Amino acid sequence: MAQSIQKCFSVLGNDLRMEILKALEKKSMTVTELTDKLKAERTNVSHSLSMLKNCKFVKDEKKGRERVYSLEKSVLGDLKRRGNLLELMEFHMKHQCGKKCAEALK
Ligand SMILES: [Zn+2]
Repeated sequence: MAQSIQKCFSVLGNDLRMEILKALEKKSMTVTELTDKLKAERTNVSHSLSMLKNCKFVKDEKKGRERVYSLEKSVLGDLKRRGNLLELMEFHMKHQCGKKCAEALK
């Protein structure tokens, strides 16, 4: 086992990051759209997004001058199929994480 699951939960164990994932589950959004929707500070949203991206929970795509964020397909698929955070985390640790959450939390 590469690392403790605790690190991965710490990345998600944050209200704003959880809200971002929930919002992105419905549709892809830019930082501006997320900031408006969640009524959060733009810098906090950006920081959370880069953390989620480093940990492979979300991905981004350049569209003109903005970046559009969406859930990684495997994350979205897992949430839809199972709706079980624990199973999602197990999948994440096995296939996506590679200690990225531990690095993101440093
Ligand atoms: Zn992780």
